[in-house]
This record gives sequence, C-alpha cells and structure tokens, in this order.
Amino acid sequence: MDARLEAIRDTVLARNPGEGEFHQAVTEVFESLGPVHDRHPEFLEGAVLERLCEPERQIIFRVPWTDDAGSFQINRGFRVEFNSALGPYKGGLRFHPSVNLGIIKFLGFEQIFKNALTGMPIGGGKGGSDFDPRGRSDAEIMRFCQSFMTELYRHIGEYTDVPAGDIGVGGREIGYLFGQYKRITNRYESGVLTGKGISWGGSLVRPEATGFGTVIFAEEMLKTRGQSFDGQRVVVSGSGNVAINAIAKAQALGATVVACSDSSGYIVDEAGIDVALLRQIKEVERGRLKDYEARRPAVSYVAGGSVWDVDATVALPCATQNELDGDAAARLVRNGLLAVGEGANMPSTRDAVAVFQEAGILFGPGKAANAGGVTTSALEMQQNASRDSWSFAHTEERLTEIMVGIHDRCAATADEYGDPGNYVLGANIGGFVKVADAMLAQGLI
Ligand code: NDP
Repeated sequence: MDARLEAIRDTVLARNPGEGEFHQAVTEVFESLGPVHDRHPEFLEGAVLERLCEPERQIIFRVPWTDDAGSFQINRGFRVEFNSALGPYKGGLRFHPSVNLGIIKFLGFEQIFKNALTGMPIGGGKGGSDFDPRGRSDAEIMRFCQSFMTELYRHIGEYTDVPAGDIGVGGREIGYLFGQYKRITNRYESGVLTGKGISWGGSLVRPEATGFGTVIFAEEMLKTRGQSFDGQRVVVSGSGNVAINAIAKAQALGATVVACSDSSGYIVDEAGIDVALLRQIKEVERGRLKDYEARRPAVSYVAGGSVWDVDATVALPCATQNELDGDAAARLVRNGLLAVGEGANMPSTRDAVAVFQEAGILFGPGKAANAGGVTTSALEMQQNASRDSWSFAHTEERLTEIMVGIHDRCAATADEYGDPGNYVLGANIGGFVKVADAMLAQGLI
C-alpha cells in the first residue's frame, strides 16, 4: 500500500477498534488508490480519504417488541448514513444475529463506491439489526418491523435516505416497514423505501436484480476471454434472494448450476438445480435447503461442510461476507475455475482474492458485480418520482445496459491504470474518483 495512504488507513483503524469487517473493506479499497493520488494530489490536500472513512451520521437505537408468548424482546437497530456526495443515502437493511456496527459500516462503505459505479444519483448508507428472523412468526416479524420503523422514520425520506432489503429483509419486511412509515408520517411517500410490492409502488425485476446482475457482469467478464455461461458448471453459495436469481439467470444462459447452500449445509444436483422447486421451498414455504433433497431424487445433501468443495468453472458466492477463504479459493483453482462473480458483499477473504488474482482467474468484486440490486432500486425511485411503472422487459433491458456499463468502466479504468483485467482496481478507482470529485466540489462538509 502507498505509504501516504497507509498512514491514513492506520488512523482509521485505530479510531474504529474492533470493527474487523470495516477495517478489511477500508484496507482493500486503499490498496487500489495509490496511483489515483499520484495523479490527483488535490484528493490528499482535501482530506478526501479521512472524510470518506468517517460516516456523515451513525444512528444506533433500541428496538423493543413482544414475541408471540408475550415476552419482551430488545434488539439493537443501526443506520449508518455514510456519504451523500452523489445523492440521498441508499443501501439495504440487514436483519441477522451477527449484525453489529462494524458490519454495517463495512457494508455502508462498500455501498458508496458501488452506488457511484452505477452512475445513478445515489449516496451510500446501510442499516439493520441483530434481530434473528429465523423461526419467527409473521406476526412477530411485523411487530419487530413496526418497532424498528418507529425510530428509523425520523431519519429517512425520499430526499434523505432510502433503505431497501438485504439479508433477512425481503418483500414481506419492506411491506411492514413501509406500512408503519406511512402510518406515522401520514404520507404515501413511495420513494422512501425500495423493494416494495408491485401493486404499491415496487418495480418489476427488483427481486431478481442482484442475482441477474451478477450473472450479467460475469458473462461480460467471460466474453473478454471468448467464453460465455453456455456450458459452464456453476456453484453458487446461499439460497436466498441473490442466490436463487443468480441460479435462474445462469441456467437461462445455458449453464448447469450443480450446487447451492444455506448456513446448515449444501446440496449437489448434477442435473442442474430445479429453480422452481428451490423457490417453492425457500420463498413460499420459508423452509430449509435440506427439504430439497427429500423432493428430488439423486440429490445429495451435505450437512455442514463447504460448498466450495464442489468443483466448478464459475463460482458465484451469494451468501455472506468472508465465506470463501484462501484454502477454498486454492481448491477451486486446482479444480478448473475460470471466473468468480461476487453476488454477496465481500464474500471472498483477502487471501482468497489474492489466490484468484495470482492464478489469473476472472474476478468480479461485489461492489461492481452485485450492483444490479441497487441499480434497480434507483430505477424504482425513478418510476416512483414519475408515478410510472415500467414493463419487465424494459426494466431488465435498463438493468442489463447499466451492468454492462459498470463492467466496461471497471475494465477501462483497470486498463488506464496499467493493470488490465484487474476488476478490483477498476471498481475501486472508478467509484472513488466520482465520489471524490463531488466531495471536493461541495466544499468542506
Ligand atoms: P437472503 O437473506 O435472501 O439470503 C441469504 C442466504 O445466505 C441464505 O441462504 C442464508 O442461509 C445464507 N447466509 C446468510 N448468512 C450466512 C452465514 N453467516 N453463513 C452461511 N450462510 C449464510 O439475503 P440476500 O440473498 O438478499 O443477500 C445475500 C448477500 O448478497 C449478502 O451479502 C447481501 O449483502 C448481498 N446483497 C444483496 C442484495 C439484495 O438486493 N438483496 C444487493 C446486493 C448485495 P440461512 O437461511 O441458513 O441463513
């Protein structure tokens, strides 16, 4: 890392102790930015990096609610409004027991660059709670969401901060959150949340967007080597929103997706995953991946273990951060891997990224490859602002256009900075320069 940047990075780490994922995300971005500061000394003079690493606002709040047994439950809520240089804060809400400030800050930090890469007018933010939705009834989920919004509503708005979903927050939760926002404010403010239902202000393609976008990005990477998804053997981690839609899109492009996972284990289905059955189990019945085995012959379910033990030519990590380490990366490379598209945020550890890059694997980092979700959220905001709703075909066409544009910008930036094919460098520099220019133009704030 450039010595000037290393000193700033060390200060950031020291004043944010214990926030391991945030440290990791900051370090990874700083490692790319040395050459930019050679060309743009004004970024150092303007203390852009110091400002960028300090969120504009961090909100932490109590979320009290009652469970079905009538017991009182207390969770912690977060919203980190990281950077508004390019537009209102935009980024999802995560409900998962592992959530803490460091995780929300890593996600919010990544979101700044991702949103800049989309070319849409959106800043970066993220939020969530350590609430565990697993095993909770609909009524419990609703009461939790209502309590969460009872504090959050005063911090958000269509021109201020526009949350969406993430792990543990899908259409059902966005519905309960929107209902409570409307009730408290007495405003039907469609643009305050994205990921809404189609009949009440949502956008077609939003549920599919992150998974579809990841595959579109990976397809563009494959094309640079004269390849495509057609005929590839694909392994996907996770079996939530991003994973299911990545599987669907990869198979639509002619790949065979042979494995996917949840936090309890993974399935191997050599014939190709039956997406309709997977959707039924995960989205309709809210069941576990293990249920898939019982309903499809010749499928093996492996409890625990790592889905990355299954060999693949394309790997799409779509579950969570740091789920693919250096050993798993080395195993995938030995088994014939060509490309990795990160559907999740920071799923590959720094060791894993190094293994992929040294082996010359096409590697699409999450902040570029999974930008399709927030892109389509911004398209939802456009439709809300114009009180319009677009067809599936038109919205998917816009998504595809934007994902191809992100790919091309990352590739062109990597070329410009003398490291062709390095999408990590391309994404970090491409996103950073856009935000840094806007921050300088807006003065010291
Ligand atoms: P979901 O809640 O729909 O699904 C998450 C999936 O990942 C589940 O299969 C879950 O398994 C698994 N998972 C979650 N945590 C862990 C863990 N600690 N260890 C192992 N498996 C785990 O979330 P999404 O699909 O929406 O999000 C997945 C990833 O994509 C996240 O990194 C998110 O930040 C990122 N992302 C999501 C976007 C979106 O639009 N939704 C946009 C951009 C990025 P289990 O059910 O067993 O917990």
